[in-house]
Amino acid sequence: MARWALITGATAGIGWATAEALAAQGFSLLLTGRRHERLEQLQKEFKVKFPQIEIKTAAFDISDRFEVGEFMKAHQADIANIEVLVNNAGLAKGTDKMQEGSLDDWETMIDTNIKGLLFMTRGVIEHMVKKNRGHIVNLGSVAGRWTYPGGGVYCATKFAVRALSEGMRMDLLGTKIRVTNIEPGMVHTEFSMVRFEDQKKADAVYENMTPLDPKDIAETIAWCVARPAHVNIQELVIYPTDQAHVGMISRRS
Ligand code: NAP
Repeated sequence: MARWALITGATAGIGWATAEALAAQGFSLLLTGRRHERLEQLQKEFKVKFPQIEIKTAAFDISDRFEVGEFMKAHQADIANIEVLVNNAGLAKGTDKMQEGSLDDWETMIDTNIKGLLFMTRGVIEHMVKKNRGHIVNLGSVAGRWTYPGGGVYCATKFAVRALSEGMRMDLLGTKIRVTNIEPGMVHTEFSMVRFEDQKKADAVYENMTPLDPKDIAETIAWCVARPAHVNIQELVIYPTDQAHVGMISRRS
């Protein structure tokens, strides 16, 4: 029987790379994101690269409770089969100081990174409990452990992901369901472009240093998933070698 993984935010960066890594492990995939055309492109590429697996996609906004509900209803049978849920979709918006921050940006980050992750988890987790089997991988961040100036709200959402991961683990104790929190440092994806909406500013983030590649995180997730059922990798902090802390980066001049 096919093993199924559901990955949110598969239209770019870490999510796309994780889809590749899990496909390579033989998982069939249910992939989500808002950009329909990216999901189509992904499906086309993967059909050629991984002809042995099944791929389904769904375009919707995870921060919208109604849209998540509709997705869960439309994919009831698939959701019941999900063995691995990768709660990857997330974003940062702006780096304004708290006293100057945009309420819209705050709401977007909180709604996506916290509420979206919860809505998706709630829909999948009850089936995992029924099967007494499953693995939830949450994308936290080093920003979920350490705060940096201008990042307070984004960091708060990732601190929340850490708390939610711990809470899930405690509530699921006694079941065979594993919960892993992956906490990357700088990864070169569309993340900074989404945050700044400015290519120059986004490029400057990774200037003269070597960030992580999405594949580095995807391989780590695939490794966690592939551990024997009695082994749960609870948390992993992964920095690029050029980064020692959230605000400490070595740049070649
Ligand atoms: P990315 O390249 O911008 O990808 C983000 C993904 O999330 C996209 O597929 C996007 O898809 C999806 N997404 C965003 N908002 C969504 C929504 N409301 N509904 C559905 N999907 C949504 O960024 P990334 O770096 O791969 O980020 C993935 C995760 O890693 C995030 O949770 C991020 O916080 C975390 N992270 C990133 C870094 C980093 O340095 N890059 C470091 C630590 C942690 P659509 O636009 O198609 O909706």
